[in-house]
Amino acid sequence: MTPGNASRTDRQLLSLVGLVVALAVAPTLVALVSLVDGPPHSIGDAATIVALTCMTALGTRVKAPIRIRSTTHAITWIETAIVIGLAVAPPAWVVLSTGAGVGIASVTMGLPAIKTAFGVGKNILVAAGAGAVALALQWRWPPTDVVELITSLGAVYLVAALLDDLLAIPVIALASGNRVGRQFLNNLDLRLAGFGVRFVVAVCTLLILRADPRLLLAVPPLVLSLHLAYSTRVRGRAEQQAWQRLARTTDALNVVDLDKVLTTAVTQAAELFSADEVEVELRDGGRTVRGGTGAITYDGPAGAPTSVDGTVVPATLEGHDRTADVGVLRLRFRGPVQLSEREQYTLRTFASALCTAVRNAQAYAELARVADEHAYAATHDALTGLANRRHLLDQGTEHLSSRHADGVTALVLIDLNHFKEVNDTLGHAAGDQVLVQVAERLGAAAQEGDLVARLGGDEFAVLLRGLPAPAVAAHRAETLLAALHEPFDLDGMRISVEASGGIAAAPATGGMPELLRRADVAMYQAKRAGQRTSTYAPTRDTADLGRLTLGGELPRAVADHEFTVNFQPIVDLGSGLVTGAEALARWRHPVHGVIDPLRFLEAVERSGLLPAFAEAILDEALLAASAWREAGFDVPVAVNVSPRSLLDARFPGSVLARLRSHDLPPDRLVLELTETLTLSQLDVVDRVLSRLRDEGVRLALDDFGTGYSSLSLLSRIPVHELKIDRSFVTAMEGSAEAAAVIRSTLDLGRSLGLDVVAEGVESEPQRRALWELGCTAGQGHLFARPMPAGTLLAAFRRGSGGSPGALAPPLHDAGAVIRLAPGRRQGGRGRADRHLPA
Ligand code: C2E
Ligand code: CA
Ligand code: CA
Repeated sequence: MTPGNASRTDRQLLSLVGLVVALAVAPTLVALVSLVDGPPHSIGDAATIVALTCMTALGTRVKAPIRIRSTTHAITWIETAIVIGLAVAPPAWVVLSTGAGVGIASVTMGLPAIKTAFGVGKNILVAAGAGAVALALQWRWPPTDVVELITSLGAVYLVAALLDDLLAIPVIALASGNRVGRQFLNNLDLRLAGFGVRFVVAVCTLLILRADPRLLLAVPPLVLSLHLAYSTRVRGRAEQQAWQRLARTTDALNVVDLDKVLTTAVTQAAELFSADEVEVELRDGGRTVRGGTGAITYDGPAGAPTSVDGTVVPATLEGHDRTADVGVLRLRFRGPVQLSEREQYTLRTFASALCTAVRNAQAYAELARVADEHAYAATHDALTGLANRRHLLDQGTEHLSSRHADGVTALVLIDLNHFKEVNDTLGHAAGDQVLVQVAERLGAAAQEGDLVARLGGDEFAVLLRGLPAPAVAAHRAETLLAALHEPFDLDGMRISVEASGGIAAAPATGGMPELLRRADVAMYQAKRAGQRTSTYAPTRDTADLGRLTLGGELPRAVADHEFTVNFQPIVDLGSGLVTGAEALARWRHPVHGVIDPLRFLEAVERSGLLPAFAEAILDEALLAASAWREAGFDVPVAVNVSPRSLLDARFPGSVLARLRSHDLPPDRLVLELTETLTLSQLDVVDRVLSRLRDEGVRLALDDFGTGYSSLSLLSRIPVHELKIDRSFVTAMEGSAEAAAVIRSTLDLGRSLGLDVVAEGVESEPQRRALWELGCTAGQGHLFARPMPAGTLLAAFRRGSGGSPGALAPPLHDAGAVIRLAPGRRQGGRGRADRHLPA
């Protein structure tokens, strides 16, 4: 009950009591007037009045107490005294002596004024009502016979008892917070029994009086013993009910939710102990919950003031063994209250049950928290707090299968380049810091609805949901990668990290695993092509390649020579004459046809079959080169080398042995290296490359300009040749930046004395522009697509415009004067003339 509620109840109580007192004034006045009209004549009459008063006073005091809140309600003998009085004396006398008797008893018991007033008023009304019935029935003393005595007494008694209940029940109901109807039914059987007993007592008393007034002396012991028997019954009943309620309450505490435990405890204890306010203060954290029978009024930290002051009965919340102590339960009453022994025992039992319930709920909450933590740990990456691979798969699968998924779903796979270097050179703590910062930046760059995940190591993924069109995915991927562009700050040290992104839109079938695979394919394409991002293209994918590579097909492919090589010529841009050829691997799969290297290279590199694969490619390349040489086209062959091969100390020996067995001078072989080499591995790589270089093998830096460490790598590994990445050639006409990269690469080549080959020359204008910038050699579809060795030899022989070895007409065709770019090194490769047949 809230304080506001409490004061409203108080006001209502006060007005009810006032009403009863006001109503009682009228019969009192009437009685006084009639007393003045017919005052008692004799000493006997006066004695009767005194006796009546004493009887009522006694009836008021002898009672079976029932405490409700800080108010104790009682079952009394007053009506019995009243009806006996009405049998022997005029109603006016009874009314007045009842008022006097109750008043005297209440005052001597030290009852509060309001209770005294209510008691006096109510009983005057009862006496007046019953008196009126007695008058109406013309009740005379002594009665003519027993039947008349019983019927008249019965009628009078009934009215008295009904009036008594009628006046008392609303007040009790209001004070105890019960509904009137419920209060009326409360203990109805006991009250009816009490009524019967008191009626019999009244009848007996009157019969005794009729027989011999002196026998009246026997009445008090009789009444007292009856009273004791009755009140024991009442108390027994009350106790039984209390136990039942305690059992129900402790049952109700049997829940695992702490909030529910506390709410139940407070409201039930308020009812059980009839307290004005109940408070539970928990030791652990000091949480305090307060309330009354109806509701919780406070839930917060301990120490907040309460409006209920009066009696406080505390009970420690401890187990039966007194070991665990989880807090304290406090019962508060507005008035002075002393708990009975039974109530004290109930309180201890209740407190111990509550202690157990709180401990259970706390243990359960802890368990739930641990379970939550586990669930979180199972779905999140511990280092970055991002979703993990499993969570990404789960969420993505759920999203893809949801009917409400609007728009396009796409996945961006982001892989940090050269991350191992950070770990190896700066330590794992620094590596972790970078990963955390990458996670933060990706999180910030992601939009609402995106799910950012770390798949493991330096691999991240962002699931894009609800895109308006598939093309938007590439734009969003650029934004995500751009977020990683700024150097990372590691305790004041600035570290640049490059990343590649693979983009794929959700496939119609295959779900998340297929989406992830496609994004992975795209990312690998981006890495290989040296681009920042790449979008998955079905044409570059062999759908079941995953199964091919996993299905143990690689060993068979190596054994059955399914890996072959196509050759793409490298051409002097000015003359159109061939100056070399690059060997490009192909997998001629018996079922799937020709598969591009980007589709299987990674699998080969991971499979442990790389040395066998590399040797097979090298063999074919050298075989082709010696065939061309024999045919008079003595041009070097360029072979791509996986970075992993350079970590193999046996690699140089194997290469040199193969050159010898093909009877080729070492400078007929160019090894193309990519920049995915990591600085940390450079010591091994240095030794491998130095050995090859010292023996005369030529080295080329492939895809130049795409890696961030191009220049630093160049300073460590002395190569003979640079290959300008295709992306710059493709973009040079539209982009000043791309043109600048080409120009500075050429400047670098000139100053270091290196040959420069432009890749991906597809058009005459590109060829001309490159030539004018000072680039002497080029490779691309303009001259030839990759083709088998024999086909290429036929093309050499056929030549262009009648000159064998030419794959394009010279630029200075038709007598045009070609302006040479300043500083251009013509025939820089120094081999262009040698291929010509003698
Ligand atoms: P790369 O070394 O940059 O090879 C050039 C790639 O560009 C080849 O793709 C070639 O077909 C393609 N290309 C040549 N001219 C043009 C052109 O004018 N336009 C366009 N759009 N493309 C052109 P390919 O054969 O798919 O090879 C891809 C990559 O696979 C190669 O890139 C190379 O890094 C790697 N690779 C190829 N063969 C081998 C090998 O035997 N061993 C190793 N380790 N890597 C290889
Ligand atoms: Ca290459
Ligand atoms: Ca290249």
